[in-house]
Order: sequence, then C-alpha cells, then structure tokens
Amino acid sequence: MNENLHASAALPPPLAMPNPDNSVVDSTLGHTLDHAKDSLVNTQGTANVDRDEVAKFDAIAARWWDTQGEFAPLHRLNPVRTGYVAQRVALSGRKVLDVGCGGGLLAEALARHGALVTAIDMSSAAIDVAELHALSEGLTIDYRCCAVESLVHEHEQRYDVVTCMEMLEHVPDPTLVIKALGRLVKPGGSVFVSTLNRNWRSFATAIVGAEYLIGLVPRGTHDYARFIRPSELARTAREADLTLLDLTGMQPIGLGQSFRLSRDVGVNYLAHLSRPGTVSL
Ligand code: SAH
Repeated sequence: MNENLHASAALPPPLAMPNPDNSVVDSTLGHTLDHAKDSLVNTQGTANVDRDEVAKFDAIAARWWDTQGEFAPLHRLNPVRTGYVAQRVALSGRKVLDVGCGGGLLAEALARHGALVTAIDMSSAAIDVAELHALSEGLTIDYRCCAVESLVHEHEQRYDVVTCMEMLEHVPDPTLVIKALGRLVKPGGSVFVSTLNRNWRSFATAIVGAEYLIGLVPRGTHDYARFIRPSELARTAREADLTLLDLTGMQPIGLGQSFRLSRDVGVNYLAHLSRPGTVSL
C-alpha cells in the first residue's frame, strides 16, 4: 500500500458532524469556493483542480480495475449508471466525452455500447492505467490527461453526450465544471452527472459507513461539504443553459454488493440534463 494511504489511514480527518440545517453549505454551490485555496493553476491555465485530491487518486491508480479494492463501489455502480445512460440516449456511433474518467470504468462500458469515446482525467496515473486496460480489452478510447475547462475552446459543442460521474464532489468549484460540460455538448445533446446528495443520510452512509465502519473506501475519500444537493445542481444547470430532464437515485441492494435505480435521491444520484437545441438523440 502506498505511503500516502498509510498516512491518511493513520491520521483520519476529524469526523465533523454536519450542521443539521446545513446552513454552512446551503443554497448554492458557491460554498465549495472555500476550497479554492487548495487548488492549483495547472498548465492548462485553470485553477479548478484540487492537487491533494488528484494526488490521492494518483496514489491508488494501480488498483482501478481491482473489483475488491478501493474502487469496488464504482465497479458496483457501473452497470446501473451505464444502463441509465443507455436507456436514455442512443450511444452507437455517438461522440461521447467522459470527464473525470479515472481508470476508464464508465468510458469502457460506453465504448462497448458503440460510442466513440474521449475520456479525460487530471490524474496522469489513472490515464495510464485506463489506456493500458482499454488496449488489453481491444477497445479504442481517446484518453487525455487534462482539465475539462481546457477542452472548451478546442471542443465546444462537439459531443452528443457528456458524462461526468462521481467527480463533481472532488473539485473546488463544481459550478465551473458543469458550465464547461454545457459548452462541450452539442445543442440537443445530453449531459449525465452523478454525485452524492448532502444530508444526514449521505453523511452516515458515504462517510461514517463506507469510510469508517465498513472501510469500503479509504478514509478521507469524500469531503461532506462538497456533496451536492439536487436543488443546487438544478440551479447551476439553469445557469449553464442546461435543462434538468430527470433525477434518479442509485440505491444499494443489501450491503451494497450491487445497486439499482430508485426514486430515492437521498444518497447517490444521477441527473440527466440536456442542452436546448434541435439536434436530438
Ligand atoms: N468517473 C470515474 C472516476 C470517479 S473518481 C468513475 O466514476 O468511475 C474521481 C475522478 O475524478 C478521479 O479519477 C480524479 O483523478 C478525477 N478528478 C479529480 N479532480 C479532477 C479535475 N479537476 N479534473 C479532472 N478529473 C479530476
């Protein structure tokens, strides 16, 4: 195991309980700007990257495809979220961008549905792993190590579908990411995001349960203050000129060995957004 992980396991972050009325982090996604001091200005000229977060993902990148390792929850979520996307849009032959792709779990699943996938992540180690894995599976995916904001000028309105799953809660300012997603999708195209809601249940499940009690993911994987309420996502989507078409929960079955779609958006949830326009899928 990597030294960083030992360090984080030995010194867990203090378990601050959420404010019951969520007043600290209420109403807008702007609260996440509190974390902006931790961000870096990278070579792409964007400041919306948390260096410590990316370092955490770099450190465990070798285990992206270990279905029993730190990324086990993402492996378990993958079939249900891929099914959600595939149910809602045609994928075959469509240009798809996966933002914050990690080791390529979703990117590969979308490619298997016939999508022409470009996938980006700020963790160069994750991109290396994703490239190798796709090669070993005989899949062609255009992987790049870059920030989403840096793609906007080059790739504006290029994609039929843009996905960004379990990544918004790891960036200093998710509003900037959502706005970039809105600019990368074609008019009439779709954006799919998934993240964690912010309330007592998500705190109990995703942090106390998954990080401290069961040890499903390393301590410090998630920062409660960065969880995003659906109402906040909806507001930012409107600002980004995206229409919120649907919100659907992903609910664990039993102890979370697998997940199913659910009307309960209290913890993990998916959102389908679309960019107004005439080209529809
Ligand atoms: N979407 C993938 C991975 C989620 S884990 C999946 O669900 O399977 C979050 C990923 O976001 C990590 O791979 C991390 O490196 C990446 N990430 C964090 N901040 C980022 C940023 N600012 N830009 C791009 N990727 C980022």
